[in-house]
Amino acid sequence: MKNIIKHIILITKHKWLVFIFCCKIGIPFRGFMHDWSKYSPTEFLESIKYYKGDRSPIVECKKIEGYSKAWLHHKGRNKHHPEYWVDETAPDSTPVMPYKYVAEMICDKLAACKIYNGKNFTNSSELEYWKKKRKESRINKKVSNMLTEVFTQVSRQGINATLTKKNIKELYKKHCGPEYLLGNGKK
Ligand SMILES: [Zn+2]
Repeated sequence: MKNIIKHIILITKHKWLVFIFCCKIGIPFRGFMHDWSKYSPTEFLESIKYYKGDRSPIVECKKIEGYSKAWLHHKGRNKHHPEYWVDETAPDSTPVMPYKYVAEMICDKLAACKIYNGKNFTNSSELEYWKKKRKESRINKKVSNMLTEVFTQVSRQGINATLTKKNIKELYKKHCGPEYLLGNGKK
């Protein structure tokens, strides 16, 4: 019962922070739409069973059960996760994600880092975490490089100065190419 309440508070806090960050970079609708599937039974029930508070319950579940039904459900429905876009039979199995989902992913990562780290959060926290994660992440190289630059900027100048519409768009153009800004990422 305790975990139910704690988990609801955690995901609602997370959604709210993602919404605030998304508003900063001019994609409020993505912020509003973020992670609704976490309230579905498949994701919700597993997450309360493996609730930890300082890290993702999905990681805990995978450790114990070998796989996470919640994650498979989540990544199949949420386009801000690079795993949604992975297709082994496509010419490029990890394509460049459309701008709006890359922008939403940045907000998601920073919000998760802030909430899970609590008082220990610093502007460098996400950069340190990302440097470890990027090697194993199935993400397009161009998008990965963009994330590294975004989180390096956060470590130097903070979240507010980095998360502006102009800056995130410029970085996307620089790393992924301006053609991806048109037509939702299609070349
Ligand atoms: Zn998500």
